[in-house]
Amino acid sequence: MCKYDVAIIGAGPAGYTSAVRFAQLGLKVAIIEKDKLGGTCLNSGCIPTKFLWQAAKTKQKILKSLEYGIKSTIEPINFQDIINRKNKIVENLSKGVQRLLESYNIEIVKGKASFKSSNQLVIKTDNEEFEITADKIIVATGSISKSIPNVQFDHIKYIDSTDALNLTVIPKNMLVIGGGAIGIELSSIFATFGCDITLREIFPQLLPNEDLELAQEIAKGLSRQGIKVEVGCSDALQDENKFEKILIVAGRQASIDELNVSNINLQTDKRNYLVSDDYSTNIKNIFAIGDITGKCFLAYTAGQDGINIVEKLINHKIEKSNDPIPKVVFSFPPVASVKDCEFDNYQNIVYGKFLFSANARAQIEFERTGWVKVAVDKDSEKILGVWIIGANADELINIASVMIKANMTVCDLSKNIFFHPSLAEMILGSCEQALNKCPDLPKSI
Ligand code: FAD
Repeated sequence: MCKYDVAIIGAGPAGYTSAVRFAQLGLKVAIIEKDKLGGTCLNSGCIPTKFLWQAAKTKQKILKSLEYGIKSTIEPINFQDIINRKNKIVENLSKGVQRLLESYNIEIVKGKASFKSSNQLVIKTDNEEFEITADKIIVATGSISKSIPNVQFDHIKYIDSTDALNLTVIPKNMLVIGGGAIGIELSSIFATFGCDITLREIFPQLLPNEDLELAQEIAKGLSRQGIKVEVGCSDALQDENKFEKILIVAGRQASIDELNVSNINLQTDKRNYLVSDDYSTNIKNIFAIGDITGKCFLAYTAGQDGINIVEKLINHKIEKSNDPIPKVVFSFPPVASVKDCEFDNYQNIVYGKFLFSANARAQIEFERTGWVKVAVDKDSEKILGVWIIGANADELINIASVMIKANMTVCDLSKNIFFHPSLAEMILGSCEQALNKCPDLPKSI
């Protein structure tokens, strides 16, 4: 039986990041994966959605080429070609993860892991079953799609996000249930390729935890694309027979059933997640990182968990992270936001806003829709939050994140020279407007 210092179950961003860190420190590491290396993010999450969004954006850019005096036409699109290209990118990136793991001599164990004891795992493949042991076991098994009550995925009409990302023909129409990031992104993509989309959300706004103004603006953007948006919708399936496909993206659930946690009495919360503040579980040599902890459901926080767990186990300390977490939704236009972790504790907040239509670069790019909104603490002038709807929000938000993490004030920011003409100038403009330092700009819209 093979014995390791550390065995990691799941080769998504949480699992493979921690595997590399452990190996860099000279430990003998095994990573067990039942499916493809790279996990949800690479195979059926971040990468495929952003590839398809980019394909949709390319189509939209071509349709707008006449703005520059360039006439163009688009031949009928074979969606299978787009999916094939998406698969190629995914495959290349997955091979990259494999090379990375191999370069650190990490043992890649293909198969489904389950617990036999607190330091023994049974690995099952189609043809064999074997055991490995490890001093420490890290559970990084992620999350999977969750359906709504009384509906099961049949993966034909009632589909999940993975099915949607592998459709080879654009459906005539589709009901999308769930107005979170995934529902909005897939609605935007499929609508661009001609699918008649109805998007239903049970809460009174899209992105229920996001700034209301931003959520309302997203809804307008989706409507401009011809998407029927229905919020506060208690019966999402009221007319289900009307639709060719029903895409359910109403939440995620812990990917834990196959682990046999009851064998070793590994305790979960009511939702079946392995929740803890410091990655520990009730069993002293077993830890949990990434989506399986039921907290963030983001690839970059999962990757950060992968680094933190190594710090915890090797250096016996855990950096309590209060870093601002940027959030992005790839709609048309994209939206993004980031807030100081202590945002809710500030009492004296002022807001500033800068319209894309007032920015030269946005004019040049014919991207006049949207705004940048900032929140500033009036007493200290510290920048507390940034919300962006408009072209390149997905990239601009990283600047905002750095500003907030660095505790920048408006004065600090204004000492920086921004390239002109750039979209980033709007971040400075909105900050200055919050403090009324820029009287020429519109104060509200
Ligand atoms: P996962 O990536 O889910 O990896 C877990 C791995 O464990 C899987 O490969 C699984 O096969 C394996 N596994 C499970 N059980 C076992 C077992 N018993 N034995 C062996 N292997 C096992 N996040 C972003 O940051 N940005 C985005 O743009 C973004 N877009 C997304 C779009 C969609 C459609 C979806 C669904 C998610 C998206 N996410 C995005 C979320 C992101 O994909 C996840 O937060 C991230 O992948 C979680 O990483 P993880 O390592 O915890 O788990």
